[in-house]
Amino acid sequence: AKKKFKQSEVNIGMVGHVDHGKTTLTKALTGIWADTHSEELRRGITIKIGFADAEIRKCPSCGKYSTSPKCPYCGAETEFERRISFIDSPGHEALMTTMLAGASLMDGAVLVIAANEPCPKPQTREHLMALQIVGNKNIIIAQNKIELVSKEKAIENYNQIKEFVKGTVAENAPIIPISALHGANVDVLMKAIEDFISTPKRDPNKPPKMFVLRSFDVNKPGTTPEKLIGGVLGGSIVQGKLKVGDEIEIRPGVPYEEHGRIKYEPITTEIVSLQAGGKFVDEAFPGGLVGVGTKLDPYLTKGDLMAGNIVGKPGQLPPVWEDLRLEVHLLDRVVGTEEELKVEPIKRREMLLLNVGTARTVGLVTNLGKDEAEIKLQIPICAEPGDRVAISRQVGSRWRLIGYGLIKE
Ligand code: GDP
Ligand code: MG
Repeated sequence: AKKKFKQSEVNIGMVGHVDHGKTTLTKALTGIWADTHSEELRRGITIKIGFADAEIRKCPSCGKYSTSPKCPYCGAETEFERRISFIDSPGHEALMTTMLAGASLMDGAVLVIAANEPCPKPQTREHLMALQIVGNKNIIIAQNKIELVSKEKAIENYNQIKEFVKGTVAENAPIIPISALHGANVDVLMKAIEDFISTPKRDPNKPPKMFVLRSFDVNKPGTTPEKLIGGVLGGSIVQGKLKVGDEIEIRPGVPYEEHGRIKYEPITTEIVSLQAGGKFVDEAFPGGLVGVGTKLDPYLTKGDLMAGNIVGKPGQLPPVWEDLRLEVHLLDRVVGTEEELKVEPIKRREMLLLNVGTARTVGLVTNLGKDEAEIKLQIPICAEPGDRVAISRQVGSRWRLIGYGLIKE
């Protein structure tokens, strides 16, 4: 019998320092190698956010978890639990804002830490801080490359991890020794995912909201105008649902020039097709990567031009801000650098990098109050009052996470 395709219902981030095994673990869990862009293949590192889905199944006979209809441990027929999406993020320090965009879509995360290196490495700390800043609480730690170390070294590394997470959101996170490369203990990690990262309760009747992560022009060069396919938006729904035929609004929308200044205008269009987990569907829900086919001029969506926008029903989207007033919460120390620097207070006329959802923008600090900053944005953002904004500052040659802000009315 043909089974109805079940869409993914939860997004689980794969985070941690570069080379600790995030992409390898994603492959071990899903069978999918998420690094497929030519530059990623050439440089051997993850550059763009990648999604990979897995169907988690449980064996009623031996109780073990796998992704296969037949239990690889005892041969019995397994039962479907749920479909989950892994969001593979880059661990390189230069790609932190990409990681932050992905983090805004994560319902939970696996923090991958290599057992054969001292803990914490800079991006181990920075990614955990990013999860803390975007408000992510369901974390599992995978102590990877366990086959490379002796039992004593593994325990020493475990104790370092325990010490590192003390007082953070990951304080009570389970720590699971694995070898992603050899697939060892991956079933235990799956069980931990099922036990600790539950699917959030969602209300499908709330106004839909999708964060755009990518956008594409899917037409081959030289396609004649009559045959052109409209622009495609890729991202994740964070609230409500989208249907084929829905009229949608996209904010802040498309740039245009007025009196030598770049302004943005919201745009409306219609959903002509929907893909969830790579399959055509009539309706799409939160969880996993969703592709929205529209009637937009593909020129507007090529090369991720629409990344950072929000999709919803006309008139039901959050406001667009050109100036933000933030309640500021700074960290004590700059994270992500090798040496730990103190975070100096925000200064007037300083440029800051802000991440909100999948959007990122640079802003100039125009005014400061007690624990408050007013910032003029280069690119406006669409967000709800109270939303969290990750704040980074240029330290040396890189943007470094220094804290977060809450949007004030
Ligand atoms: P990422 O940067 O965190 O995505 O790391 P990758 O998944 O690209 O892995 C980096 C390197 O570590 C690759 O050469 C992997 O083959 C290797 N690696 C990943 N997991 C393991 C493991 O469990 N054991 C060993 N020995 N190597 C691993
Ligand atoms: Mg990777």
